[in-house]
Amino acid sequence: MCQAVLQDPAFFGFLLHIDQDHAASVRALGCAFCNGPLHVGDFARKPRGGPGSALVDIIRISFCCGHCRLRCTPASVRFLGRRVYWGAVVLLATALCSGLNLRRGQQLTEQLGVPTLTLLRWRQWWLSGFTGTAVWQELRGRLLPPLAATDLPAGLLQRVVAADAPAAMAMILRWLAPLSTFTEGRQVRHQLTQKMALARVVGAV
Ligand SMILES: [Zn+2]
Repeated sequence: MCQAVLQDPAFFGFLLHIDQDHAASVRALGCAFCNGPLHVGDFARKPRGGPGSALVDIIRISFCCGHCRLRCTPASVRFLGRRVYWGAVVLLATALCSGLNLRRGQQLTEQLGVPTLTLLRWRQWWLSGFTGTAVWQELRGRLLPPLAATDLPAGLLQRVVAADAPAAMAMILRWLAPLSTFTEGRQVRHQLTQKMALARVVGAV
């Protein structure tokens, strides 16, 4: 897969539409804590590695509850947590550098503008940090034949069935999206805590 997609504003526009659709469904549910209305509370990021902020939207979609003021930032296919690079760069750059010799790795670093040490850190995260997440636990159960952790993330790109490179990238970024936020997950955890508390109460009666 070619890294040209990382310089394509249309690709980032495509990802933005996915984020907007998901954010709209999160907003429609209202605040998970108090059912209050979710108001727009977007903020700007300064993501590196893409086409540049003049060509693509760099706003992180986020909401703030109109009653309890708690923030809810929906999962995103564009931003991978607090990383300063676009999620697509973290995915594709690490996939392209795996198994490369040093010279080719340096060429890639120059083309993508990602320092070698950063690429190595991402590689380590895929091997250890990512494999400890619930996203990977669920994903690997669906991949047949099984995908070795050492083949991450290039193996994901080889396995995905999609019409073209942008669609393949988007599909994987959808899988990774739960890693992009704590606050949408916090709602789920809160609801689980409520259910557990209720179960304890019911059990006590
Ligand atoms: Zn609320």
